[in-house]
Amino acid sequence: MAEVPELALNDGNTIPQLGFGVYKVGDEQTADAVEFALETGYRHIDTAAFYENERGVGDGVRRSGLARSDVYVTTKVWWTDNGYDSTLRSFDASLERLGFEYVDLYLIHWPAPSQDRYVDTWRALERVRADGRARSIGVANFHIHHLERLARETATVPALNQVELHPWLQQRDLRDYDATRGIVTEAWSPLARGRILDNEPLARIAAKHGVTPAQVVIRWHLQLGNVVIPKSQTPARIRENFDVFGFALDGDDLAVIATLDSGYRTGKDPDDLG
Ligand code: NDP
Repeated sequence: MAEVPELALNDGNTIPQLGFGVYKVGDEQTADAVEFALETGYRHIDTAAFYENERGVGDGVRRSGLARSDVYVTTKVWWTDNGYDSTLRSFDASLERLGFEYVDLYLIHWPAPSQDRYVDTWRALERVRADGRARSIGVANFHIHHLERLARETATVPALNQVELHPWLQQRDLRDYDATRGIVTEAWSPLARGRILDNEPLARIAAKHGVTPAQVVIRWHLQLGNVVIPKSQTPARIRENFDVFGFALDGDDLAVIATLDSGYRTGKDPDDLG
């Protein structure tokens, strides 16, 4: 079984660079998908209160027979619960649904800037980390200006920033900013929700290496240094997306992929949500 690299976080913990996303998977199907992913070799699962499948994640982890400490689990507080007390309540409910005593990583799901509550939310995350109930804390969908505000008003630098990132939305400035502050960048919708997989330049690179376009894109994320969490409910694709350690993209491939950046988002701009 392939060894997935572990990336160092700024709080002394590490995170498996390749994980498994479960957005839009029903609670029942999630347990099966997670169990299958863990059997395949994934050791990192990405869920959220909003996905309504934390129970399925907990069940899948327990059914795998793996020790809790062998699986890295992330969950997130939804933006309507932003705020100090509401985040603490949401965190308790997530732990209860997961059936865990701690999560490895707890994230603010969206800054929802018009609410002006993400700084208070961050203080609640600092608290659950201090309690040992979240090993690491981070953010999702934070632009540079949201991160700068946290830096001005709070004492803890997020361990990680999970953002939409794929060859159509390469987020160069944000990745550079994260890197200079010791924040790991994690790619959500790393395959642009599957929409990018019939892209011709990617198909040509895939043919050259004897792999699939999805494998090329996941490999690209790994070589950039991103954490990457592709989602699939299809067993053959769950395996395919994990089989990305037997080839490497070369400089020509990377140069071609660099030209695909178009700014296309599959989701909302974080300044416009909430
Ligand atoms: P992805 O970019 O991972 O794409 C998933 C889609 O691609 C599914 O339709 C899947 O189909 C298809 N697919 C997966 N692998 C292959 C393959 N090898 N060949 C062909 N098609 C494939 O999209 P997601 O939006 O799910 O993002 C991944 C994860 O990121 C989420 O599950 C979630 O954990 C996280 N996320 C976080 C967000 C945030 O705001 N923080 C927002 C969105 C996502 P099928 O399942 O039918 O196989």
